[in-house]
This record gives sequence, C-alpha cells and structure tokens, in this order.
Amino acid sequence: LYKVAMEQVVDGNTLVAMCLSRGGVDRMFGVVGIPVTSLANRAVALGIRFIAFHNEQSAGYAASAYGYLTRRPGVLLTVSGPGCVHGLAGLSNAAANGWPMVMISGSSDQSFTGRGDFQELDQIAAVKPFSKFSAKATDITEIPTSVFSVIDWAVAGRPGGTYLDIPSDVLHQTVDESQAQKLITEALDSRNKDLIENPKINYSEIQKAVELLRTAQRPLIVFGKGAAYARAENELTKLVESTGIPFLPTPMGKGLLPDTHELAATAARSLAIGKCDVALVVGARLNWLLHFGEAPKWSNDVKFILVDISKEEIELREPFLGIVGDAKDVIGLIHKEIKDDPFCLGKTHPWVEAIRNKTKDNVAKMEVQLAKDVVPFNFMTPMRIIRDAFLLVGGPAPILVSEGANTMDVGRAVLVQTEPRTRLDAGTWGTMGIGLGYCIAAAVASPDRLVVAVEGDSGFGFSAMEVETLVRYQLPVVVIVFNNGGVYGGDRRNPEEITGPYKDDPAPTSFVPGAAYHLLLEAFGGKGYLAATPDELKSALAESFSAKKPSVINVTIDPYAGAESGRMQHKN
Ligand code: ADP
Repeated sequence: LYKVAMEQVVDGNTLVAMCLSRGGVDRMFGVVGIPVTSLANRAVALGIRFIAFHNEQSAGYAASAYGYLTRRPGVLLTVSGPGCVHGLAGLSNAAANGWPMVMISGSSDQSFTGRGDFQELDQIAAVKPFSKFSAKATDITEIPTSVFSVIDWAVAGRPGGTYLDIPSDVLHQTVDESQAQKLITEALDSRNKDLIENPKINYSEIQKAVELLRTAQRPLIVFGKGAAYARAENELTKLVESTGIPFLPTPMGKGLLPDTHELAATAARSLAIGKCDVALVVGARLNWLLHFGEAPKWSNDVKFILVDISKEEIELREPFLGIVGDAKDVIGLIHKEIKDDPFCLGKTHPWVEAIRNKTKDNVAKMEVQLAKDVVPFNFMTPMRIIRDAFLLVGGPAPILVSEGANTMDVGRAVLVQTEPRTRLDAGTWGTMGIGLGYCIAAAVASPDRLVVAVEGDSGFGFSAMEVETLVRYQLPVVVIVFNNGGVYGGDRRNPEEITGPYKDDPAPTSFVPGAAYHLLLEAFGGKGYLAATPDELKSALAESFSAKKPSVINVTIDPYAGAESGRMQHKN
C-alpha cells in the first residue's frame, strides 16, 4: 500500500525531469550537488543522458556548443550560488555566439531568503546580462510553464541562453501524478507557437537582392555560423554554383561549402572583401570578425545585403538592403528567383579570375612553408601533418575543435573543412578554455564522428581535468596540445623592463616547460603520446585516429615560434 501511495506522488525534481523530456531534451551537461542531484538522477531515469563534468564552466561550454550543433537547446544543470556563477561562463558564451542553451540552477530555500542561507544568491539578477529570458519557479505548479518557456525562448529568433531557477524547497514540493500530468498538458497547450516560427520573408526584398547580385561587377557571398545553424548548406551551394559568385566563410562558416571548392575565396580574403562591390552576408554579424564592414578592409562603397534572423541586427548595421528571415529560407528564395532568369559569372569573368589567381598564389606560398619539416616544431609543420592525417579519416569528416592564439590562427588557414558544422573554435567572444567542453558536446551530438581538438597548452589547461570525463564516457576524442610552455609561448619580455622584488618569478605568460600533458590522461586510463618529431606525430595520429578512443597528443613546440597574441598583436 505504501509503495502504491509513493508512486502517485511527483516531487519537483521529477516534474522538472518530466517536462524536460516532454520538451524534447535528451542530453544534459552539468555538475551535481545540493540541491540538484536528484534532478539529474530523475532525468536519467526518464531516458535523458546526463554528462557529469568536473566544473560548470566546461559543462556550460558543452551545453552551448551542443545547442549550436543540434539546433536544440543544450541544457546545463548547476548547483546553487557558486555553481550558478561558474555556469555563467557557458551562458555568456551562448549569448555572445547566438547559440541556444538553457541553464537550470537549483537555488536556496525561499523561506530563508535574505538571511544568509547555504549558497544564497539572487541568481535571477546574476544571470540577467547573459540570458534573453529567465524564469523562477516559485511553486511546483509553475514548473511546467517555466521549463517550456526557457526551452522555447532559447531557440526563438536569434538563439541564445535562457535561465531557469528552481529553489530547493520547490524541488521538494509534491503534487499527485494526475495533477502533474494536467499541469504539463496545460503548459504545453499554452505554449506560444509564434515564438518559434521563422519570420515571414518580404518577397520584394528577395527581388531587390537578386537585382543587386545580377548587376554587380564584383559580387561576394559571405556566410557565417548563423547560416550553419540554419542548415543553409544546400541552398548556398546551389546559389554559388549556379551564379559562379565567389564565397567567403567566416571561421565557423567553413565547411558549408568545402574549403577546396573552386569558388572559395578564403585564401584571397583581403582581396575579396577589399574589392567586392556587393556582398551578400548570410548569418554573420558585421562585428570585429568582419571588420565592422568598414574601410579600409572593405571598400567604402560596398553594398551590403544582410540576411539575418534578427531584425535588431539588421537595424544596427544599416546595410544597403536587409532581409529578416531564416538563412535557409531566404537563400532558397533567392535561388528560386534567379532560376527564372539565370545568370552566371563564369570562369573567365575578371573578378572570378582575380580571386582564383590570388588564391593560387597564396596557397602556393603557404605550401612552401608547410612543406618544410621544421624541428623543434614551429606551428606550420605539425599543422600540415595533422591536415594530412585528417584527410585519411574515412567516413564522415571529423569535428575539429580549435582554440589558442597561434594554434587557432595557423589551424584556420591550414586545416581543411569539407562538411558543415565541423569546426568549433573560440568564436565571437574569443573564449579560451572551450576545448574540452566543445569536444564532449561534439562527441555526444555526433557519435558517428571522430572529434579532434587542436589547441594551445593554455587553452587546454583551463579545463584539462575534463580529460577524465572523456575516459569515463569513452568518447572518441583526440586532444592535440601544441605545447609551447605558456600563453603565447616563451618569455617575450624585455629583460630591462622587469624589475622589483618578484623579477625572478616566471613570466606571467609561462608555464612549467615540457609539461607532460599526455600523462594526465594516462592517470585515468586513456592513451597519451608525446610527439616532438614528424615521425612521432604521424604515428600518434595514425594510432589515435583509428582507435577513436580518448587520447592526448602532447606536441612539443618551440616556445619562441609564433607571435604574441597570434594575429591580434594590435589588441594586446
Ligand atoms: P560568425 O561568427 O560566423 O561571423 P555571427 O555569430 O557573428 O557569425 O553571426 C551569426 C548571425 O546569424 C547572428 O546575427 C544571428 O542573429 C544570425 N542567425 C542565427 N540563426 C539564423 C538563422 N536561422 N537564419 C539567419 N540568420 C541567423
């Protein structure tokens, strides 16, 4: 009798888990503890995979990237107070990158508010700058509406992070099973469907865009991670190939069309953006990554056609023509409109030829550098070896995770992306420390793919303990650490400027030289490799890529190779 009675009661923990499951959540990332441990266990019992991390920062990065890769909000679960604060790293990263994510934190007991309860914090106030929507369930009956709202708001319009606060007393409240089901049904019925619908597209703007592209002398198509998120690859490929217009991906736009495509202007970037007269920019902000769309990088009279899901984004940039809409829908319509009266620049068009020639020149110059076997390693030699190893991976292309200064810069130029959404990097916010979290998210989102991180030792160090998470879940992740002994590498200070009582301390940029990062993974039963020569690196890559098991390859790099701040010295 007792058992039957217990089964008919649902507590707050179970109700949250039920709602997440009904809301389509099938993966969660987080760190358990007071008061959310039961919530995680109930979610698992309902078929949700819970990936338990060491730190909320990494788990949050994972949730943000999972949202980007799957188009469904990545869910981060944190404990109260400090757990919520650590989680802000992930939430802010989701906001900056425009990725859908839901952060759920337990919070302290409402009956003690203001009296210094365990881990007490006004979490709703703390998340405000980083969340597009937040809700607090102050009573168990508010849980269903709150859960469905944070899920819907995360994906609505420009995706981003949302936040759900559940006080510990609410997690322990109970309702009858039948009441729980009724609350869920009512909340589902009252969901705001308009929120998640794509905006209607103004067809006259499509016609204007086509006219601009048709009459341009030097048109360019630029696309970014918003287009990748929209899964606009087929529409973009059709548009590029039918019109013969060269294209330029942003770093995470790489792979929507293959880097090896004959119309790729990646290696002729300065020419392409400096000389184009009409630029169709799809799902990419004219922010620092695209030099704000301004001279001198862009020509003064370039006409921008911006395609973005966010009306505010278009209003902010004041382009020649703005089209609010989903990238896949808009590019599909542009292609359709062109099809009725097709045009194609053709291979001998002076603009296409200029870009092709510049690309050839730049690629040839880079290949000369890449062909050398420089030991001790610079950044180029190991990157070439990694590029070649990538090309030998059979099946779907690996997902590349990249962070660091020189490591990310050189990797962006050298590594080849052939499939959409196979590059995750430091992104709009230049976030360091994303590596392990992104690897775990990628492996969980795409279990059929190998995941390879190519990252600096500094980026790796932010979340290195998550290598244990890789081993625990046996994820097919190979982490390649470019180990140059510090942030930017060796001590680059002018000795005359270093004075004072701590002048003999290690430089703020330096780490222990020759750190054995590969042994870190071995402590947990993973496989570690140390590679200081081309042969050692080739054999470590061949073995780890075919094993598809958690591995760390510690690549010894000359501490004085590369530049301070990579290609952004002017900002440091
Ligand atoms: P990148 O870093 O690749 O340049 P950004 O993150 O700066 O890309 O820009 C991505 C843009 O894509 C954002 O302005 C965002 O509003 C927009 N976006 C997001 N989803 C879509 C979509 N489905 N269709 C069109 N634009 C989108």
